[in-house]
This record gives sequence, C-alpha cells and structure tokens, in this order.
Amino acid sequence: MSETQPLRRAVFLDRDGTISEEMGYVNHVDRFQIFPYAAEAIRQLNQAEIPVIVITNQSGIARNIFPESLVYEVHKKMVAELAAGGAWIDAIYFCPHKSEDACECRKPNPGMVEQAAREQALDLAASWVVGDRYADLEMAHAAGARGMLVMTGYGRGEYELHRGTWPRQPDAVVENLRDAVRHILQHGGGVARRDE
Ligand SMILES: [Mg+2]
Ligand SMILES: [Zn+2]
Repeated sequence: MSETQPLRRAVFLDRDGTISEEMGYVNHVDRFQIFPYAAEAIRQLNQAEIPVIVITNQSGIARNIFPESLVYEVHKKMVAELAAGGAWIDAIYFCPHKSEDACECRKPNPGMVEQAAREQALDLAASWVVGDRYADLEMAHAAGARGMLVMTGYGRGEYELHRGTWPRQPDAVVENLRDAVRHILQHGGGVARRDE
C-alpha cells in the first residue's frame, strides 16, 4: 500500500442487542434473532461503500457454555439472513475470552477494532462504533473512534441507569440500528481521506 492510499472510514457494529435481540448467551443458533430492520440498515451502508465490521464479545466460549464452532454457525445464519435482505458484513471479529483472561481483544479493550484497522486500512478517527453497552462506547473512544449508543438490547437501561457515571458520554444516542445508519449517512458517506 502506498502512503497516499486513502484510509477508509468504517462502521463497527456490536452484534447482540444491536443487530439482533439481546438473548444472554446465544448458546443455540435458534437464540439468534436478527432485528427486522437490520438487513435494510446494513444494506444502506453497503451501498454507501462503507465497510461494515461486526465486533462481538463471546465469552461463552471461554466459559465452556458453547463451543467456538457455534459462533461460526450463528454468524453463518446472520450472514444468510442479511444476504436475503441484500446486505453483507465485510468482516467479523469476536473475542472468545472472559474478562479474567485479561486479553487485549475483549471489549472495552480496543484490540479487535485496532486489528481490523490494520488489516483493512481503516481510518478509526472517521469511523463509528454502534452498540448497546457502555463497553462498546469505551472501546470506540479507546480506539479514537466515535461511539453511538442504541436503545435496543441493554441500551436504554444502561443509558437511563448509568450514564451519570460515564466519564465520557456517547457521541450520539439513537433508538436503534436503523436510526444509527441514518445518522451516519447524514454525516457523509464513502471514502474519508486523512487530509480532509
Ligand atoms: Mg451488545
Ligand atoms: Zn479476547
């Protein structure tokens, strides 16, 4: 890659509670229930040529609640249901660890986002992280990205009960993924260059 290669802005999406219902541990593929508006929302990002990257903590693996193979099975279902709505995910990163493992990838640590940025030449400062938990926002800010909170999943409770204790507030608060995408596209789409 040349030095003048533009870095692309991306949208990082949390999975559970953001793309799909928050079900606790998704220990069976049947427990993955995608939100009805998810495909249309993600398709709009695809059409704007903004990479869509899923970032998800799956500590059920480290806790022996489900095998890693189940995560792939769930993601296969997610990808198929999005494809049925004309949408795709550009990459998926998951952390299989539990907090006691002290890894660098488990949200709120920025390891997964930073890995994605290296592998896909992404401009984190021009990127958004969308999620339903404060850990999603903390990860965004630790990576130098912007964080948007949705009110689905744990979002409304996290916001109403705990926002007073948050050292840094979300950069945007929206009802759900559909409104998140609307907000992002209203603030410009496509390629963001370093020198802009
Ligand atoms: Mg979530
Ligand atoms: Zn990890």
